Amino acid sequence: MRNPVGGHIPVAGGLAKTGLPYAAEMGAEAVQVFVANPRGWATPAGDPKQDEAFRAGCAARSLPVYVHAPYLINFGSHTEATAERSVESLRHSLRRGRDIGARGVVVHTGAATGGRPRSEALAQVRERLLPLLDELTHEDDPWLLLEGTAGQGASLCSRMADLGPYFDALDRHPKLGVCLDTCHVFAAGHDLAGPGGMKQTLDELVSVVGEGRLKLIHANDSKDVVGAHKDRHENIGSGHIGAEPFRELFAHPATEGVPLTIETPGGKEGHAADVARLKALRDGPEETGA
Ligand SMILES: [Zn+2]
Ligand SMILES: [Zn+2]
Repeated sequence: MRNPVGGHIPVAGGLAKTGLPYAAEMGAEAVQVFVANPRGWATPAGDPKQDEAFRAGCAARSLPVYVHAPYLINFGSHTEATAERSVESLRHSLRRGRDIGARGVVVHTGAATGGRPRSEALAQVRERLLPLLDELTHEDDPWLLLEGTAGQGASLCSRMADLGPYFDALDRHPKLGVCLDTCHVFAAGHDLAGPGGMKQTLDELVSVVGEGRLKLIHANDSKDVVGAHKDRHENIGSGHIGAEPFRELFAHPATEGVPLTIETPGGKEGHAADVARLKALRDGPEETGA
């Protein structure tokens, strides 16, 4: 099964009204949206008409939909208020995800702030996040997808191996999956651009979390070198990862059928070009006529 290739789409003005034309213009075969201000704690109600139109539009085009939860969420925070708000914010994203037919909701794995030990932060992740996973009992409920970071500060997950203790803290829940961001793992020190680097990284992911857990890929190149711990996305093929490792990514059994969404700079034209580049890397020279 081919990997759908698409991207994060803007939805200010309406999920269907703004999002669907943007998706069409970028040539998206998969989309990711925010359902709240990503830099705030607000939990806005959806507009049922836009929800319905968006669901219908995505279904008509067979577009898998993903939600990215707000960035402020941190289940490892030493601040009680942040931990509490994280629960409300993620619960909102999960419910809104179900409303719009999302397959998965991406959440950042957070950090052990305030100098607290990782074990303490992970115990809190279990206490706060496991109940939310247990709420996902409806067949239409999305997967919860963990996205690691570039490894800044006291990040709880950046290297593949870090996902092991995080999965264990959540009892390897059946609704738990992974969103792999190529820029983040490169920044965290996995040399995707080195010989066999992509394959090795994906092999390690599977050995840590098991088969069938990789549900989404954030396809981003990196403005910075490997191991820089900087989260600065670049257009596909224009950064330090380069285009070739994405060919390796498509060829790996762990990514079979897994959608890719770009989160790159450059506005609509840059996005359309990145989607086209990835499709060409996926399809190879025969189908693109190159
Ligand atoms: Zn990402
Ligand atoms: Zn990023």
